[in-house]
Amino acid sequence: MSCDLLTLATPGVAGLQPYQPGKPVEELERELGISNIIKLASNENPLGVSSAVRQAVHAFNDYGRYPDGNAFTLKAMLAEKHGVTADRITVGNGSNDVLELIARATVTREHEIIYSDHAFAVYALVTQALGANAKVTAAVNWGHDLVAMQAAVSDNTRIIFIANPNNPTGTWLSHDEMVAFMRTVPDHVIVVLDEAYYEYASADDYPDSAALMQKHDNLMVTRTFSKAYGLASLRIGYAISSPALADLMNRVRQPFNVNSLAMIAAQAALGDERFLAESIAVNAAGMQQLIAGLDDMGLHFIPSRGNFIAVNLQQPGAVVYQKLLHEGVIVRPVDNYGMPDCLRVSIGLEDENARFLLALAKVLDR
Ligand SMILES: *Cc1c(COP(=O)(O)O)cnc(C)c1O
Repeated sequence: MSCDLLTLATPGVAGLQPYQPGKPVEELERELGISNIIKLASNENPLGVSSAVRQAVHAFNDYGRYPDGNAFTLKAMLAEKHGVTADRITVGNGSNDVLELIARATVTREHEIIYSDHAFAVYALVTQALGANAKVTAAVNWGHDLVAMQAAVSDNTRIIFIANPNNPTGTWLSHDEMVAFMRTVPDHVIVVLDEAYYEYASADDYPDSAALMQKHDNLMVTRTFSKAYGLASLRIGYAISSPALADLMNRVRQPFNVNSLAMIAAQAALGDERFLAESIAVNAAGMQQLIAGLDDMGLHFIPSRGNFIAVNLQQPGAVVYQKLLHEGVIVRPVDNYGMPDCLRVSIGLEDENARFLLALAKVLDR
C-alpha cells in the first residue's frame, strides 16, 4: 500500500510555507569556516537577560512538577502592572501562542482575517493554517493603512491583526489613528494590537491601548517577554483583553502551555526595571548609531520604533545578505515580506553595530 501522506494535509496546510528561522551561529561558523560571527537577525536583546532572571532560574528546582496551568502568580503581577483584573490576562508560549489562540477560538474556513502587506509573518501563517480567507491590505509608506483595513471588513471578518510597531518595517501608528480606527470597526471584529516592541516604541503619540480597551471590548493587546525583557529562548508572552476573549482563549489553549521556568523568569524580569531601562537606552543609542552610519553611506532606511531597522538597499537584499555573511555578520533578508530590496538589521551592542556598518560599507563599496 502506498499513500502520499502529504495529500492528507487540510487545504490551508497544503499551501503553507513554514516560517524560516535563521541558522544558528555555530552552524554558520562551521559552514563558512569563520569565527566571531555576530547575529543581528532576530530582534533579540543584545544585553541578553537581567541578572535577576539568571538568579531566579538558577534557584528553580521543581523540575518534576507540572507548571501552574493558571499562571496565578504571573497573572497577578501582570494584572497589577496594567491596572486590570487577572481575568483579562492570557499567558502564552510566546505571544505567538496567544495570536494563534484567539484565531483558533474564533475563526473557521468561512471567516476572513485582515492584515497588511509587509506585516509580521505569523498573521499569514495562522490564517492559512486555519484555512481562513486572508484579506491583505496594501501598505502606505510601508506602514499599515487603517482606512483600507476598515474598508476591507465584511460580515465574515473575525480578526484584524495590527503590529505596532510592525516587524519588519518598524512603522507605527499613533494614538489618534487608533482611536479613529476603533470607532469604525464593528463589534463582531476582534482587533489584535500586537505590541511586541512596546517598551522601545512608547513615545508621546504612541497609542494608549489601556484607554482604548476600556472603550472597546473587541480590542485585544499582546505583549512579549522575548524582546526588551530578553527572554526569547524561554517563550513567554501574553494578551490583555476583555474577560470574554480571555475566556475563549482559555478554552483552546493547552492546559500547560507555559512552562515553569518561563514564568519564574518573567516574574523576575518584571521586577528588574533597571535592566529594562538599560535595554531601552542601549537600543536608542544603537538606533542613532545605525542611522548616522547609514546616512553617511547615503543609504535609505525606513524610520523605525522597534529594536531593528529595515535598510532599503535599492538592490536585491539577498545578494547583500550573502556578502555580509562572509564578513561574519548575519542580518535578515525580507523577500518573504514582499521587501526584496531591503534587509532588516536588529540593533546590537555598540561594537556589533560598528561591525555591521563597516561590513556593509565594504560589501557595497561605499
Ligand atoms: C518578535 C515578535 C513577536 C514576539 O513573538 P514571541 O512569540 O513573543 O517571541 C510578536 N509580534 C511581532 C510583530 C514580533 O516581531
